[in-house]
Amino acid sequence: MTGLTFDIHRFSLNDGSGIRTTVFLKECYLKCEWCHNPESQSFKPQLSFNSEKCIHCFECVKVCLTSAHKIKDNKHYVDWNLCNVTGKCVDACSSGALKIIGANTDVQFIISEVIRDKAYYDKTGGGLTISGGEPLAQFEFTKELLIEAKQHGLHTIVDTCGFAEPDQFREILPYVDLFLFDYKVTDDAKHKQYTGVSNKKILENLNFLYNHGASIILRCPLIPGINDDEFHLEGIKNIIKKYPLLKSVEIMPYHNMGRDKAGRIGMEYKMSDVRNAEVRDKQRWMKYFSTNNCNVICN
Ligand code: SF4
Ligand code: SF4
Repeated sequence: MTGLTFDIHRFSLNDGSGIRTTVFLKECYLKCEWCHNPESQSFKPQLSFNSEKCIHCFECVKVCLTSAHKIKDNKHYVDWNLCNVTGKCVDACSSGALKIIGANTDVQFIISEVIRDKAYYDKTGGGLTISGGEPLAQFEFTKELLIEAKQHGLHTIVDTCGFAEPDQFREILPYVDLFLFDYKVTDDAKHKQYTGVSNKKILENLNFLYNHGASIILRCPLIPGINDDEFHLEGIKNIIKKYPLLKSVEIMPYHNMGRDKAGRIGMEYKMSDVRNAEVRDKQRWMKYFSTNNCNVICN
């Protein structure tokens, strides 16, 4: 079985316990405006153009059959509407400025990559993390990957936005050691505004997983001026009180690392005016949680 992936990252230290290999899958049901992996959102391969690496040789212009590559003022740019992602330009580009994001990848291939580092996982409590995008958007593939990983004795983590069918969580539960579960915005209208979907299903799935004994780390992105208001901080506090056996709660301070990636795939980045989280923001958030006796980690 194959799935559409866009990265396999070895020696990851930020995707759960120990040293891990993180497999990034394409497609997400949400369209978070702050997404730091905007290239994960679409379920199709995409051309990426990094202008900083471009040497303006214009070899791509010569080979592109749809004239997606253009020259203006002796500089190269892409007309994204014309690109049909054949990859001919990538082969012609010697500087590495062009690449295709997204490739059909076999479960067995991924597992063979992941088990290369099994000795490190065993020493550090690491393993496989499936991230994205939303792993459950390619449900059958993710399930197969998890089953195969378990057959190889790997510790497994699924990094999820929580927006999937409850039955899908039920089916993968036996093969998942830990969920990294996002909680983004408490006010539902605001959740829809910034992510494109309601948070109702997400909260129901969190409730389902918790009540079925899943090990869960709650991850809360906080974005200055967008969702770090009192109402949402209180929403996080209420979840912590409601689910005292969460393994931990992590605050993920906003950083605009998605902006450049979005530009490289011709995607609009709507948060250009939003500043990165600063020390004063983190101090205010942490003060709120310590005052309310909530044990929270700020990453
Ligand atoms: S082939 Fe690569 S380096 Fe040359 S103009 Fe195109 S993108 Fe730039
Ligand atoms: S859920 Fe995650 S991957 Fe999906 S759009 Fe939001 S931040 Fe991006």
